[in-house]
Amino acid sequence: MSDVHVFNAGPCLLPDQVYDRAAEALRSFAQPGVSVLSVSHRSDEWVRIMDETRDLWKRLLNIPDGYDVLFLAGGASMEFLRVPMNFLEHKAAYLDTGIWAGKAYKEACGIGNAVIAASSADKGYTYIPKDFDIPEDADYLHITTSNTVYGTRLKKDIDCPVPLVADMSSDILTRPVDISRYALIYGGAQKNAGTAGVSFVIVRKDALGKVSRHIPSMLDYSLLSEHKSMFNTPPVFPIFVMHETLRWTLENGGVEEMQRRARAKADLLYAEVDRNPLFRGVASREDRSEMNVTFVMSPGNESLEQEFLDFAFARGIVGIKGHRYAGGFRASIYNACTLDDVKSLVQAMKDFENR
Ligand SMILES: *Cc1c(COP(=O)(O)O)cnc(C)c1O
Repeated sequence: MSDVHVFNAGPCLLPDQVYDRAAEALRSFAQPGVSVLSVSHRSDEWVRIMDETRDLWKRLLNIPDGYDVLFLAGGASMEFLRVPMNFLEHKAAYLDTGIWAGKAYKEACGIGNAVIAASSADKGYTYIPKDFDIPEDADYLHITTSNTVYGTRLKKDIDCPVPLVADMSSDILTRPVDISRYALIYGGAQKNAGTAGVSFVIVRKDALGKVSRHIPSMLDYSLLSEHKSMFNTPPVFPIFVMHETLRWTLENGGVEEMQRRARAKADLLYAEVDRNPLFRGVASREDRSEMNVTFVMSPGNESLEQEFLDFAFARGIVGIKGHRYAGGFRASIYNACTLDDVKSLVQAMKDFENR
């Protein structure tokens, strides 16, 4: 067991194997002494990494024919803009479940007519709206399946009468997904798929090409797809890290096994949050995320917050301070986080109570 336990929300902990292979490739990639940072992105060696990365995504998520997987610079926030550029003609609908969903909505408002289908802002985004009406005349509905800041998560692939677009930044590769229900899925890589600097976009090709506006090249999914994500120089190192992260995910049993591990880790941590009288969970129980566990000091104990952060830090627990908008604590327990990491945090919570 390592002495340090990293619970950062993103960029986050990655498996040791990924750090090792990335470090090795910085020195020797195409041949000994030639770094991955220094080969042409048009070389056979690099094109093989691009092809393998695409294939790994397809295998891991059972992506059906007719979909492409793109790797693009700009992070998830750039997809907030690319999505309405490529899909919004008359009207777009957004499910408002937090800061990220709100930012996606705001970008759409700059492009055309966007509406909020439902919102959980009334209770500080601590739950997921259920049974809301989806406007049947919308070009698409945009959802955020995992709300990284608040620790809520949409647990099912929803039935949607219009094309469905999902930001899956913080829960991709943590559970099986029925890809065929979605027109497009995207996210920043830095939570379960690698490090910052690249986003993944899984897109149904026949959903593209339906808007009348001129789309600038770097925002045009069709063009980027035609060029196999290499319209310009791609972010080579983040893509390499993604390649290694996906390999690790597959070698460790794929998304079913990641889901099993995620449940075990989340169950352990939530059980302690619920049991320990010093702490209280934030997200409503039925919508609790298995990736970002949010909690606060219980009423009357608020003044102990900094003390607990220091107490945990002294035991090697890093990155549990809540998002600046949400406060309290947030432990991000993504795929690379082990059950032992979670046990260390749980033990710290118990010891803090008994101290
Ligand atoms: C982290 C995160 C983002 C932002 O990703 P960037 O790559 O920094 O733009 C967007 N949406 C969700 C759900 C996130 O967790």
